Amino acid sequence: MTGKNKNRCSFCGRREDEVALMLTGKNGFICDDCVRQASQILQENMGEDIFANVGKSRSDKVPRSGLNMRDIPKPREIKAYLDQYVIGQDSAKRYLAVSVYNHYKRLAQPSDDNGVEIEKSNIIMVGPTGTGKTLLARTIAKMLRVPFTIVDATVFTEAGYVGEDVESILSRLLQVADYDVAATERGIVFIDEIDKIARKQDNPSITRDVSGEGVQQGLLKLLEGSEVNVPPKGGRKHPDQDYIHVDTRNILFICGGAFDGIERKIAQRLNTHVVGYDSVQNLQKIDTKDLMQYIQPQDLKSFGLIPEIIGRLPVLTYLNPLDREALRNILTEPKNSLVKQQIKLFAMDGITLRFEDNALDYIVDKAVEYKLGARGLRSIMEAIMIEAQYNAPSEDEKTLTITRQYAEEQVGKNERMKK
Ligand code: ADP
Repeated sequence: MTGKNKNRCSFCGRREDEVALMLTGKNGFICDDCVRQASQILQENMGEDIFANVGKSRSDKVPRSGLNMRDIPKPREIKAYLDQYVIGQDSAKRYLAVSVYNHYKRLAQPSDDNGVEIEKSNIIMVGPTGTGKTLLARTIAKMLRVPFTIVDATVFTEAGYVGEDVESILSRLLQVADYDVAATERGIVFIDEIDKIARKQDNPSITRDVSGEGVQQGLLKLLEGSEVNVPPKGGRKHPDQDYIHVDTRNILFICGGAFDGIERKIAQRLNTHVVGYDSVQNLQKIDTKDLMQYIQPQDLKSFGLIPEIIGRLPVLTYLNPLDREALRNILTEPKNSLVKQQIKLFAMDGITLRFEDNALDYIVDKAVEYKLGARGLRSIMEAIMIEAQYNAPSEDEKTLTITRQYAEEQVGKNERMKK
């Protein structure tokens, strides 16, 4: 045996003469077979970690055509991810999953394709307050690891008016992305309360409609994809400020709004369309308790959104009001549910916290009473826990059980204090 053949692969133990190639490292050797296997394992693991890959594409600033289809989570995977954080809202999740998937397909499309260009699919979600619209948008952004910002449509007025210009939306996104323009240009913007800038039909104004059509026109510019000059520090434009050019073509806009009273518009449309025998039969099939499921773009128009805006928000979906069961699940099921958060807070002081089932039922009762959707759960939970959070860390007791009676007492105290 020659000296050379004494070298053995540090992984499989084979001698150099038994393998095709042996690589020499500082303290060992590796044969070509083991390299191949290791590479396969790497690929399998990286392949499984699709979410990490998507994030990587962003921070590595992969060019538009460089996004790999393999890196894009599939709609079912996106929905499964959303399911971990958001209870119910299946229809909205499916719509979101598909349009986000298409959006990133769009970014991955080869630029030299035969003239077929996939268009942007901005989304509009309609549903009562506190039902998960913002949470859905936030969760999607977290999964994709793209810059994300929330803006409230009501704070915008036209350029020149007091308030924020629509350009400042991009200013915020830039800030979140640490002024990385490429990352900003593939981010997600959630525009909340889009319904509040609807044109008011019963208030025809001859002057400029500050809270209506003018703002909608401004938003249109962003939604349809254009080069926007963004004042870097946000806020008001200043003549001698250097602008940053941001292309909104690949930014995904998700809009949300409660559209209070839109059911009436839906009902009107359904009624006016149903004339004749066939239609009477159709009408019977309509579930009048849940009209929201029949929402159509023309209902948004009746509500006061201009057709151009509606055209730029082609994916329309709705969220259901949360019933008791959903509220109860929200307390315990999501990955970072309120109950899990409290348990973690106390665990950090070495205290084991437990909630009795009927205490949780009580929180739900109160949330229903306050009519704040899931938003109410948090403040009720805080009211119940504040005293224990204040005292427990300094006391010796290592377990704490929240009973219904205790919860009632704490909420009662809180309500009295506020009177
Ligand atoms: P909105 O529909 O008004 O945008 P949000 O998404 O801001 O409502 O919801 C407010 C809070 O309520 C969220 O931060 C979340 O904690 C909780 N929440 C609302 N809907 C859900 C849901 N479907 N699943 C889990 N948590 C929810």
